[in-house]
Amino acid sequence: MKSKLIIAIDGPVGSGKSTVARRVAELLGYTHLDSGAMYRAIGWKALCEKIPLDSPDALAALAGRVRIDLVWRDGKQHVILDGEDITNWIRTTEVSHAASVVAVIPGVRHPLVAEQRRAGEQGGVVMEGRDIGSVVFPHADLKIYLDASPEVRARRRWQELSEKGEASDPLLVLADVRARDQRDRERKMSPLVRAADAVVVDNSAMDAEETARVIVMLAGERAKGKAVTGD
Ligand code: C5P
Repeated sequence: MKSKLIIAIDGPVGSGKSTVARRVAELLGYTHLDSGAMYRAIGWKALCEKIPLDSPDALAALAGRVRIDLVWRDGKQHVILDGEDITNWIRTTEVSHAASVVAVIPGVRHPLVAEQRRAGEQGGVVMEGRDIGSVVFPHADLKIYLDASPEVRARRRWQELSEKGEASDPLLVLADVRARDQRDRERKMSPLVRAADAVVVDNSAMDAEETARVIVMLAGERAKGKAVTGD
């Protein structure tokens, strides 16, 4: 019996995926993997190397030649690109934009999805992203589609940027959230969709702790179900 679950959490920007996934992993003693950090790493590297974001072939070649490791250290995930810890460089607005542009390119997604599968296949993992329940782990034990209204999500993003000292216009942040939603939902390959068997959790009126506890409760039910069926 495989006792440790694979939990997939998908949802749009600002739905609280990272905070919630981290907390769920903490409560269950699982590993937390943030797949978006890998797309951010490619976006960051493309900006550093001045690779034009409208050159799919060059970006796919970049994704094929770099090595990205997600390492769990000191209670947080570190993103290591070719041996360099770039965790602190990939959360800017510029990198967010670059990540969502490179993420539409199939040649970028293929190697990253392969690495995500390798990292999570043993179970005992909470992986968050846009296509985890639909593409990376279609047989995940528990799939959550986390959502909140665009206004709530933009406010959270604005607050996050303010806390980092990045001043921003709330209306521009809302416009950016809507633009990223559109790119994520309309791309041909692995668009952001709710998997048919995902549980929708709208946390517009819930904080991260409440949301995490709902998911942990659902995970407990799934684990019991697995124990009964011997899956
Ligand atoms: O989750 P986060 O906002 O950090 O992800 C950065 C970008 O990476 C997203 O805007 C999205 O376009 C892309 N992404 C993706 N598939 C995933 C995770 C993230 O396309 N599984």
